[in-house]
Amino acid sequence: MSYPKTRLRRLRYNKAIRDLVDDTNLSTTDLIYPIFVCEGKNIKKEIKSMPGQYQLSIDNVLKTCDELVSKNINSIILFGIPSKKDEEGLVAIDNNGIVQRAIKEIKKKNKNILVIVDVCNCQYTTHGHCGTIKDGDVDNDSTLKNLGSQALSLVNAGADVIAPSDMMDGRVKYIRDILDKSNYHKIPIFSYSIKYASSFYGPFRNATDISTNFTDRKTYQMSFKSSNEALREAEMDIKEGVDVIIIKPALSYLDILYKIKSKYNIPVIAYNVSGEYSMLKAASEKKWIKSKETIIEILTSMKRAGANAIITYHALEVSDYLN
Ligand SMILES: [Zn+2]
Repeated sequence: MSYPKTRLRRLRYNKAIRDLVDDTNLSTTDLIYPIFVCEGKNIKKEIKSMPGQYQLSIDNVLKTCDELVSKNINSIILFGIPSKKDEEGLVAIDNNGIVQRAIKEIKKKNKNILVIVDVCNCQYTTHGHCGTIKDGDVDNDSTLKNLGSQALSLVNAGADVIAPSDMMDGRVKYIRDILDKSNYHKIPIFSYSIKYASSFYGPFRNATDISTNFTDRKTYQMSFKSSNEALREAEMDIKEGVDVIIIKPALSYLDILYKIKSKYNIPVIAYNVSGEYSMLKAASEKKWIKSKETIIEILTSMKRAGANAIITYHALEVSDYLN
């Protein structure tokens, strides 16, 4: 049947009909809020490049968790900002480190909030790379050891989910083996299986005080000109026992998200990264776009492309407009 008998606009004249036939829904339970935890007390330091986002001391992290739960956002991903860094990022393995302490306090107060923890070395190394440097580059296999110890220490502290973001080969298997040997077979691994070397991470480095001495991370993060390699990365991690795949960044990579979701029967999370957040904030500060409507459109597009959930700095500000 074609026009004039068929008129697709018939389903658009009435809001109730539009709501009935929509096939993508965005809810607060789809959102994961990133939190940057730092040393000290009563610290709430705004991140210059990410207006509305803060470095928080543990007491303020607890307040933020209460606020999140009151808005029906029940998952966070934690990033640590240690007061000291070292050449290999060993400070991340300290059982009394900033993230470990934060997890313990959160769990004491808010047992039901899901605490996902980013596992990587870049926040903890003086050079800002994601692993141990040998011969002028990040050495894959010695970095695995650090990641394994870091993951175990975080789970010992009470982390619910481990999210390795380093892009070393073999890390899912390495971490899985360590967790299983320690009787943590119930702890899932959400791996950043597909992480592109992207300029969209710029404001995040400002947030986590990451050193910018290095040129780039192109020897371990993926080239944004590559599409099929994402399939190999996903396949490798699935074989190694990953539970959920994280794709980072999200907005310029919806094609990759769609491809992974169509090919593999595995949950996928999109990371709506700092650069995506800051561009939107800058444009809305200038009143060039309507902030709330644009955020919801962007996050819904990630769901439409296949994301089961989204890590986003916008979680709190849009929560009142979602189910
Ligand atoms: Zn890293």
